[in-house]
Amino acid sequence: MGNRHTRRNYGKMRSAVATVARERIDLLLNQAEEVLPKSRELSKRYVGLARKISKRTKVRIPREKKHYLCKKCGQPLLGKNARIRLRSPNSRIIISCLACGAIRRYPYRKRV
Ligand SMILES: [Zn+2]
Repeated sequence: MGNRHTRRNYGKMRSAVATVARERIDLLLNQAEEVLPKSRELSKRYVGLARKISKRTKVRIPREKKHYLCKKCGQPLLGKNARIRLRSPNSRIIISCLACGAIRRYPYRKRV
C-alpha cells in the first residue's frame, strides 16, 4: 500500500486522510453525545476513539467541541452532567463536569 505513490501524491493522500479523520472524529463525538444518556461508558469510549484518531492523524478536534469534553474523565459535557456558566464581565465560560468535578475555564469569544 502506498509504495507506488510519488511524493506529490503522498501530499494528496495526507489531506485525504485528514478529511476522513475529521469526519470520523465528528461522527464519534456526535455518537458520544447521543449515547451519553444511555451509557456513560460507551460515550467515553467514543470520545477516547475520537481523541486517538486526532492524535494519530494530527487532526484537531474542533475547539468548540473540545471545550465540551471533560479532560479528566473524558465524557462529553452536556446539559445534565455539566454546569456551564458565563461570566460576562471578564468574558469567561466556566464548565464544570458534575461527574468528576473537573472545572475548566475558557475565554469566551463570539464566533468571528
Ligand atoms: Zn469529568
